[in-house]
Amino acid sequence: MSKLAIKGGQPVRTKLFPAYNTIGDEEKKTVMKVLDSGNLSQFLGAWHKDFFGGPMVQEFEQSWASAFGIKHAISVNSNTSGLIAAIGACGIQPGDEVIVSPYTMSAGAIAPLIYGAVPVFADVDPENFGLDPKSIEQRITLRTKAILMVHIFGNPSKMDEIMQIAGKYNLKVIEDCAQAPMAKYKDKFVGTIGDIGVFSLNYHKHIHTGEGGILITNNDRIAEKLLLIRNHGEQVVEAKGTSDLLNTHGFNFRMTEIEAAIGIEQLKKLPNLLNERIENADFLAKELRKINGLTPPMIESSSKHVYYLQAYKFDKKVIGIPRNTFIDAIKAELPSAILRENTPLIAYGYVKPLYLQPIYQQRMSNCSFNCPRYTGKVNYDKGICPNAEELHYEKLFTHEFMRPGMSRNDLQDVVNAFNKVAENYKDLL
Ligand SMILES: *Cc1c(COP(=O)(O)O)cnc(C)c1O
Repeated sequence: MSKLAIKGGQPVRTKLFPAYNTIGDEEKKTVMKVLDSGNLSQFLGAWHKDFFGGPMVQEFEQSWASAFGIKHAISVNSNTSGLIAAIGACGIQPGDEVIVSPYTMSAGAIAPLIYGAVPVFADVDPENFGLDPKSIEQRITLRTKAILMVHIFGNPSKMDEIMQIAGKYNLKVIEDCAQAPMAKYKDKFVGTIGDIGVFSLNYHKHIHTGEGGILITNNDRIAEKLLLIRNHGEQVVEAKGTSDLLNTHGFNFRMTEIEAAIGIEQLKKLPNLLNERIENADFLAKELRKINGLTPPMIESSSKHVYYLQAYKFDKKVIGIPRNTFIDAIKAELPSAILRENTPLIAYGYVKPLYLQPIYQQRMSNCSFNCPRYTGKVNYDKGICPNAEELHYEKLFTHEFMRPGMSRNDLQDVVNAFNKVAENYKDLL
């Protein structure tokens, strides 16, 4: 039996893993064309043909729309901006409530606050870690106007049930697909099922433009609103003849020609990148599920998980040691990534349930909580989402060892590290 690295033994591997870099000659060439044109952005905040942006922006949007089989794709400068625009386009106002997930990147709960509305956290499903439809229904009040849900880690949430609840209570559905480009729920792309889908193109994501985001919808009125919110709508509505002015105060959420040009090339690469990710994730799941007490993600039949992260459930009773002890030992067996700033490739849990952040604990947001139009009393106490808390503090770990560029040997080192720690757990008692 070999000695664990965390106890001073030889680690399984010290050589760094390959960096994940999808930017190549294709992007370089197209960016040079944009630079040569001198036209780095072509937006005008007025009712004019340039209200819609320049040629690269429009080409990127068209290729995104056709890849997803949807009527409208609207680029923005981040997924965070996209979520804000989506909440605005759904007509959310002060006094309204929006049901959100506690177990996601923080922007998903901030977007309603921007419009003076109140985010209400529902609990997550213990299997796919997206919003649990039963918990959503329990949180609905007369004030609820929308559900902002997230296909977390790239695994589709239970859309049939969520859409059924939305229909029953007449709620809008915004799908945060930042981690799930081209993931499928029962053969439909996520993002095309609710009213609006939002994608991120920041550099952590499957494909990226440095910073960026893109929204999709089949609804013409929503699309118009999104365009107005993206680009100074208040200056545009008169000339355009828009009568519905609710939430049309515009932002500058515009994407540049450079980012759009990169996006066009990145989108072409997405299907192959996803295939590689899924193959790697399947290999790891097949090997790691042999360790009693580790459970790889559950995926609904005929759905497609695209693995932004691979999240496992960890049963400390079966494994014999607490999760954090186990993960610390794995980290010692493997090098950290050379992902530009040495982001660790494995983590305990994901993010602290959002309602525990100071902004919610102290109700620190302009008017949302004290708004005279708000007749509810929202609860952000510890314990409101027991599944999210148990997953985060005890049962879940996430990793991104399935990134494209990892060879079978690289992945085998990961498996060897897990086996070594599982076999020698007693040394950690
Ligand atoms: C990355 C991410 C965001 C934020 O995306 P940006 O483009 O960085 O604004 C929002 N939600 C989820 C689920 C994310 O993963």
